[in-house]
Formats: sequence, structure tokens, C-alpha cells
Amino acid sequence: MAESRVEVRRSKRRKRTVTAYLDGDALVVLIPARMSRAEEEHWVAEMQRKLLRSETKRRSPARESDAALLARCAQLNEKYLDGKAVPASVRWVRPMRTRWASCTPVDQTIRVSERLRDTPSWVLDYVLVHELAHLRVAGHNAEFWALVENYPKAERAIGYLEGLSAAAGLDLSLDDD
Ligand SMILES: [Zn+2]
Repeated sequence: MAESRVEVRRSKRRKRTVTAYLDGDALVVLIPARMSRAEEEHWVAEMQRKLLRSETKRRSPARESDAALLARCAQLNEKYLDGKAVPASVRWVRPMRTRWASCTPVDQTIRVSERLRDTPSWVLDYVLVHELAHLRVAGHNAEFWALVENYPKAERAIGYLEGLSAAAGLDLSLDDD
């Protein structure tokens, strides 16, 4: 998971309860005004742990194996690509230097970087839809993006991947784009 910025807000109305939520990429922690610094630190750490746990729960079942990845592709193909993007194989591969994933239309194979194994399922789904769309359109033209945009969280996922790449100090992109 990308590191979250933390913003602590003290509230006079709060007596004991601590609440946290995500605002964009920031973790906002609401604490009672009277809390000590030590208590504040404790609760921020607690809320970060909780956030990490919930992110982990959102990981894709496709992370388990190549077979699970292929099964997920079949579902996404039915839902977003009219059942017309059927890969010959989909595999998890060791992290690639500059790419999150790649597709070879000639032999209809897709490779997905291990770096994506722990991302939320909606992000991995976007990557799979993107690569599946390449089975139908090789380049990144308007026809290609029209297919990818069938996936409603495409834009959000692109932003997430950019953030993840920047946080890791890498310059990663999807295939050749
Ligand atoms: Zn692409």
C-alpha cells in the first residue's frame, strides 16, 4: 500500500471517541482535544494499522495463483469486454523494471508483475481489463480506450498506480504506454 499522509484533528466536542477516515490519500484522525501527545501517537498508529488491515482485506483473490488470475480475467472479459477477450495464458511474473503488466497479442498471453499482488482488487482488475483489451486492440488508440472505459474505475486506478509508482521511486507504466 502507498504511504498515507496523516492529518490529526482535535475536537473539543469529542470526549473519548477516536475516528479515522480516508480523505483522498490522507488519513484523517479525529481525536478529543484533551488527549496527550502520547495518546495521540498511540491512536494514529492504531488507525494506520486498522487502515492497512482493511486495505489487505480488499486484495484480490486473483493474487493466489495463475489459475485464479485466469479465472478473474474470464469474469472481467464477460463483464466488460463482451466475452471477446480470451487470453491463452495469464501469469504472475517477477517485477518488471518499467512495467506493471504486458500483453503479447500474437500469442494472446498476458504477464502481470508481482508488484501488483497486494494492491486492492479494483486496481488489479483495471490492469487486467487494460491487458485484456489489448487482445482486441494492440495500440492505445480511441477504440482501445473506449473498451477500457467500460471499466468504471479506470481513471481512479490509473491515478492509484501513478501514486504507487511515485511512492516506490519507480517509473512504472502499463505495457508500452
Ligand atoms: Zn496498454
